[in-house]
Amino acid sequence: MAFNPASRVQDYLVFGEFGDVNPSITDSSTYTFLSPERMEELFEHEIEGCFLYSRHFNPTNKYLASALERMEDGESAQVMASGMGAISTTLMTLCGAGDEIVCGRSIYGGTYALLKNLLPRFGVNTCFVDLGDHDAVRAAMTPQTRVLYCESLSNPLLEVADLPALAAMAHEHGAQLVVDNTFTPMILSPLRHGADIVVHSLTKFVNGTSDCVAGCVVASHDFISRLTDINAGPSMLLGPVLDSTRAASILKNLHSLHIRLRQHGANALYLSNRLEELGYAVHYPGLASHPHHQLLTQLMNPGYGYGGMLTLDAGDLAAANRLMTLMQRDKVGYLAVSLGYFKTLFNTPGHSTSSEIPPAEREAAGLREGLIRFSIGLDEDIAQTTARIENCLSEAKVRGSL
Ligand code: PLP
Repeated sequence: MAFNPASRVQDYLVFGEFGDVNPSITDSSTYTFLSPERMEELFEHEIEGCFLYSRHFNPTNKYLASALERMEDGESAQVMASGMGAISTTLMTLCGAGDEIVCGRSIYGGTYALLKNLLPRFGVNTCFVDLGDHDAVRAAMTPQTRVLYCESLSNPLLEVADLPALAAMAHEHGAQLVVDNTFTPMILSPLRHGADIVVHSLTKFVNGTSDCVAGCVVASHDFISRLTDINAGPSMLLGPVLDSTRAASILKNLHSLHIRLRQHGANALYLSNRLEELGYAVHYPGLASHPHHQLLTQLMNPGYGYGGMLTLDAGDLAAANRLMTLMQRDKVGYLAVSLGYFKTLFNTPGHSTSSEIPPAEREAAGLREGLIRFSIGLDEDIAQTTARIENCLSEAKVRGSL
């Protein structure tokens, strides 16, 4: 039977102290002990049901972590104050001075900047490659490579990672496959395709309301213990802890993620079909014309659609800017970074979310100046939104490719 992440989340039951259907929210940074010996013991090893200090773990964060661990079919999880907190602490758990990372060249700009500008200061260097070119991936791996890093559906080019092939290549070289699954929660289950560690920005689809920043790491018990270790764990020692009130609200939103994903996906498919029909340069993994459509169809969990992200190449930056200004005027959505919100968001990644990547590298990866990234909202009447976009395209004089 197919893996069903939504049912896994639904079957996770936790109650508040009075049988409240939502679990109580931890309102404490620290926890009392009945004896000094018990406190000392907890500093030495974890004790089920015992908490020490909220930077380490607290009950509310554990509830959210447990639900996400079930969604990803992992053994254990930790929640963080941001997606970048999850990514940076994961990589610092896996790598030290002299180690190397091989990473896809189409990734979120903040991750690129972390790998390119910050980690080299600690002796960790990264080689960026086209993950679709398996010879190039193999050639980039050295005995020092500890991590092969990718996004399951890449930001912003929407390239699908061939997870089983990448996992095999990582393991052949003694490295771990780390997958950022932010664009495809529930749609893809990277651990089931051989990945070792999954990270998310919960800020996006998982939360869905653009009212907070959060992240998570899902992996083996052993890895999460190393990540949170009191003596050497990067999440414990760098401290990107998620606030428990936020953890509680994200957990509630997680329970409607499957329904939202279906609507995001149906709307994105409707719009991209129409734009393709009209001859615009639209790119959406749910379209048969997308180069990785077959691969995604083969890897995905059925029933959640192909996601809410699509791109449209307006030709040049001036045309893209005209179009975005008109779409905001006509209530298509907001000119804003981020994604996974209930309203449509759009931006030009080359001049915002991927601006950390130098222009020559963006160009080589195929990220053109006029490319607009859309996160399609939960619009009730997508035909009306599509008609508005068509009018804006004509008024902005964006040319189709036909
Ligand atoms: N991963 C991806 C794919 C992203 O798009 C982003 C942010 O846009 C992040 C990670 C970083 O997440 P956060 O902003 O929650 O730190």
